[in-house]
Amino acid sequence: MNRHILVTGASRGIGAAIARYFVDQGERVSALSRSGVAPEGCAMSLAVDVADSLQVNEAVRHAVGELGPVDAAIVNAGVTRDGLAMRMSDEQWHDVIATDLDGAFYTARATMASMVRARSGSIIFISSVSPFIGVPGQANYAAAKAGLMGLARALAKEVATRGVTVNVVAPGLIDTEMTSDLGAAKEQMSAMIPMGRIGQPADIAGVVGFLASNEARYITGAVIPIDGGLAMGL
Ligand code: NAP
Repeated sequence: MNRHILVTGASRGIGAAIARYFVDQGERVSALSRSGVAPEGCAMSLAVDVADSLQVNEAVRHAVGELGPVDAAIVNAGVTRDGLAMRMSDEQWHDVIATDLDGAFYTARATMASMVRARSGSIIFISSVSPFIGVPGQANYAAAKAGLMGLARALAKEVATRGVTVNVVAPGLIDTEMTSDLGAAKEQMSAMIPMGRIGQPADIAGVVGFLASNEARYITGAVIPIDGGLAMGL
């Protein structure tokens, strides 16, 4: 279709799968990450720390200059810094909030202006089931990811009459670098998944692709779990 799809955290894992999905559909993908690495076929890759609003604004300005207005922004960049709350450092707390929540807001704010002007577009936040089910050690991450749901619904109402949709997907346990060092906990968690398997990044990419498509034009403010039944739609 040749739309401009901006994806943050596109260097690996879920973001890379999403970028590849849109490249395969013939879209022009601008891929943002700290490393600036991007899957083959992306129209542009940019090294950006999403926790820095000036860097985000500059990157989006550059991407729009090269590829035109953003048709869909996939707000995916995220980190974890797990630790039990009583022992969690200020740095652990702030690192996660800065990337996963502040960074998401900066990305949405920078991309939505051109969507509102064009009277079309979609913003899709990658949240998590963590705030639904409560995961010990993830107070910072759960707070940031729950924040995305409130952020998305406020934005959805702000731009609903302008043809712009804002939605959230909430992945369960997905096989990426982020979950690679969970060890035995990974086995225990996968045993709790009704479908009996850990998800793959491609399981997320197809749903994001749908939410960014014309078929999903009447869906806004939705939170869609993609978790093999782990949170049962909570
Ligand atoms: P991942 O493999 O660790 O990839 C994270 C991506 O985010 C990388 O591309 C990384 O690129 C980028 N990134 C991190 N901090 C950044 C920053 N400050 N600025 C720009 N880019 C940054 O993780 P993943 O599993 O694919 O996770 C992707 C998203 O899905 C995250 O938001 C995560 O919270 C969410 N999620 C994951 C799971 C799971 O089980 N894997 C479950 C639920 C939700 P660089 O290192 O190059 O910057």
